[in-house]
Amino acid sequence: MATAQSNVVKPDHEARRKHFIFTDEHEQLRESIRNFAAKELAPHAEEWEETTFPDSVFRRMGELGFLGLDKPEAYGGQGGDYYTSLVLAEEIVNANSGGLAMGLAVHTDMAMPPILAFGTEEQKQEWVVPAIKGEKILCLGITEPDAGSDVSGIKTRAVKDGDEYVINGSKTYITNGHRADVIVLVTKTDTDAGYDGFTLFLVPMDAPGVIREKRLEKLGMHASDTALLAFQDVRVPASAVLGQVGKGFYHIMWELQGERLIGAAGCVAGAQKCFERTLQYANERKAFGRSIGHFQVIRHKFAEMATKIESARQMVYVTAWRFNNGEYPVREISMAKLHASRIAVEVADECIQIHGGAGYMREYGVERVWRDMRLNRIGAGTDEIMLDVIGRSYGL
Ligand SMILES: Cc1cc2nc3c(=O)[nH]c(=O)nc-3n(C[C@H](O)[C@H](O)[C@H](O)COP(=O)(O)OP(=O)(O)OC[C@H]3O[C@@H](n4cnc5c(N)ncnc54)[C@H](O)[C@@H]3O)c2cc1C
Repeated sequence: MATAQSNVVKPDHEARRKHFIFTDEHEQLRESIRNFAAKELAPHAEEWEETTFPDSVFRRMGELGFLGLDKPEAYGGQGGDYYTSLVLAEEIVNANSGGLAMGLAVHTDMAMPPILAFGTEEQKQEWVVPAIKGEKILCLGITEPDAGSDVSGIKTRAVKDGDEYVINGSKTYITNGHRADVIVLVTKTDTDAGYDGFTLFLVPMDAPGVIREKRLEKLGMHASDTALLAFQDVRVPASAVLGQVGKGFYHIMWELQGERLIGAAGCVAGAQKCFERTLQYANERKAFGRSIGHFQVIRHKFAEMATKIESARQMVYVTAWRFNNGEYPVREISMAKLHASRIAVEVADECIQIHGGAGYMREYGVERVWRDMRLNRIGAGTDEIMLDVIGRSYGL
């Protein structure tokens, strides 16, 4: 029986934080990705803001097995669970490059899952196997100049012509669009069939008629490339159809759920990293004879940020647990995506404030976090669309 003295329980703020979804293997993986990102990627982060990150990052990460963590071993993946991809999304923030994290996530968690879920064996061999090795790069084309949130409003048409399809249209804001070898392309094949009139295609980016029109300039995520693409009479064989003809809308809505959850995990990790960097600054920076972190106002800012980050983290983990167990919790994924992207922007903004003038300077890196994070309230479904999905889930 415990003595009265040993019953004194004191808070242990340094206790190792491990959520129930993660095992020791996940933690080892976490450490190896963190070390890799800090040693091999972060030293180049500034340079890649100017040049975008090189394709060799894909090859290196392929060699290390990081591009197929949760993908089947039959295609060269590691055969891990869904949480391994969360670990990647969380630890890659140590590269200090939102653009790099986004380019990778498009490859591993946005374009690859629909090929694995709906593709034929030939398509998986042709695209997934080299993509996991980092030898081929993937992108995903949903958004068009005239249709983003309203996916059903896309105009890109694929018309059957004998054994082929002829594709015409355009896609915009396409991440990896300049470097990709293939695009998972959302098209309309039947304009009269409503949601049953969409079809996905795997279109090689070197096919005649695929034009990489413009490299788009952005507020943040500068290390990633973002393309405006045109498709002019692009001919592909019927074997390029990904999944079922007419079911592309449902296929892409499924894809978006995984994309949103991974995005949310990245937001939480990015916010946490910015928080830690700012905590260090608040301890070092002196004003009026003391560390600024010891002003109650600043201390409370940290308390607010920590509480927000923790709430988003729990939402992401519990929702990931349900997703990993085969559920399709669209409402909660939308909530996690909405909440995590909002808090990431709020945290980055508050971190700039705590840094004072230094926060506005590029060399401290927090202004970049704010610029990069700002995308998350727009990409993969805007805040407003997330609210609409959540509201509608209650029958409204
Ligand atoms: C850097 C970057 C990278 C991207 N990468 C990709 C990519 O790789 N592939 C890809 O396909 N797309 C990509 N996107 C596109 C992104 O997913 C879209 O920008 C996003 O879905 C919003 O679409 P939109 O820009 O057309 O805005 P719009 O749909 O025109 O929305 C404009 C505003 O209207 C609001 N709105 C629209 N509909 C409603 C509604 N029903 N109720 C309330 N408000 C509404 C929106 O919330 C928003 O505030 C990327 C975007 C950016 C900026």
